[in-house]
Amino acid sequence: MTNTSFDTKIVHHKADQSLVPNSKSTPIYQTSAFTFKDLDHLESYYEGNSPYLYTRERNPNTDELAGTVAELEEAPAGVASSSGMSAILAGILAVAKPGDHIVAAEDVYGGSHKLITKELSTFGIDVTMVSFSNLDEVSEAITEQTKLLYTESISNPFLRLEDLEGLVALAHKKNVKTMVDNTFATPYLLQPYTQGVDLVVHSGTKYIGGHSDVTCGVLVGNEDLIQAATQKIVTFGANLSPFEAWLTQRGAKTLGLRMKKQSYNAKQVATALDEHDAVRTVYYPEKVSERGNGAIVTIELNDSIDIEAFFRSLGWVKIAPTLAGVETTVSYPVRTSHRALSDEEREKIGINDYVIRLSIGIEDHKDIIEQLKKAIADSKS
Ligand code: PLP
Repeated sequence: MTNTSFDTKIVHHKADQSLVPNSKSTPIYQTSAFTFKDLDHLESYYEGNSPYLYTRERNPNTDELAGTVAELEEAPAGVASSSGMSAILAGILAVAKPGDHIVAAEDVYGGSHKLITKELSTFGIDVTMVSFSNLDEVSEAITEQTKLLYTESISNPFLRLEDLEGLVALAHKKNVKTMVDNTFATPYLLQPYTQGVDLVVHSGTKYIGGHSDVTCGVLVGNEDLIQAATQKIVTFGANLSPFEAWLTQRGAKTLGLRMKKQSYNAKQVATALDEHDAVRTVYYPEKVSERGNGAIVTIELNDSIDIEAFFRSLGWVKIAPTLAGVETTVSYPVRTSHRALSDEEREKIGINDYVIRLSIGIEDHKDIIEQLKKAIADSKS
C-alpha cells in the first residue's frame, strides 16, 4: 500500500498471499469475514464457486479440522463446532424435529445427560434413557416417533464398550438413525461410521486436540446430515474459532502417537492397580481394538481410603475435570462430570464416592504407577 496513512495501512495489512500456497503449516485465517474484489466475485460465492464469506458460516481452519476428523473416521463429511456439547446438540437436531423421540443411553457423559434430559424438551423432542447394555431394553423403548438412538462407543466413567454392530442392526430393523460419541475411543481405536453408525461426534477438547488447550467439537456423517447439522451450528452461532481449529488440527497430527503410548501406559496402570489391596475394582475395557484399549482407567477404591486425603496426596498428578491431555490427570465424577445427576441417577449407574477416573498420559508408566500407589498409601485411614 502506498500513499496511505499508518492508520489505514495497519487495518489493511495482509501477509503476502503468494506465500500461502507454499506455507508448510496452514496459516491461521483469524478473520471474521472474507473480502471480494468485485460483485462478480461476491456472486461466485452464492453460485458455490467461492467457499468463504463469513467465518461463522465457514472458515478454512475449521474446514481443515472437520475434513481431517472425517477422513480419520472414514466418513464423507464433517463439521467443527465450538464444543463437544454444541456438536452433540447439532447432531441430534439434524435428525430429530419437534414431536420426535430419541432413545439415549443412561450412562452417557453428565453434560450430555443434562442436555438430553433437561434441554431437548425445549425443542419439542421426547427422550427415553435406558441401559444400552441390553439392546432388548433399547428395542422396547423405541416408539413410532423414535428417530435416533444415542450412545457412546466407550462410556464414561465405567468404560462400557458399546455393541455397535448390534446397535446398528437394531436401528436398521426399526428404521431409526444412530449417533455415537466416539470421544474416549478416538478414530485411532474405533471408527463407528465404518460400522454403519450415522453420526459420530467428538469432544475435540479431548484426544483429538490432546493438549488441554482448546474447547471444540467435531461431528461427522453423510453429506445430508452434516449439512443439516451445519445449519444448526451456523444459526445458533456455535461455530469454532479459527485459532482453536488450528490448535486442534495441530494437536491432531500426533493423535496416533499419543493414543498408542497412552493406551500402553493405561494397560500397565490397570494391571498394577488390579493387584492393589486398596482398590476394590478396576474398570479397563478389553478388546476395544487391535491397537489398544484406550487411555482411561476408572477405579473404585475401598473404604480403607480417605478420599479427601487421596486427592491431596497426588503430587504431580493433577486433579482436573477433563481427560485426554498428554499429562496424567485424575477426576472425581461425583463432583464433576456427573455432578448434575441426582443421587438416584448416579446410584443407578454405579457412581459412588470411591469412584475415581484416571486419564493416563504419556509419561513413563512406572512413574505414574509409583505416584498413584504413593497417593493410595498416604491416604489409608
Ligand atoms: N462427550 C464426552 C464423552 C465428554 O467427556 C465430554 C466432556 O467431558 C463431552 C462430550 C462434552 O465436550 P465439551 O466439553 O468439548 O463440550
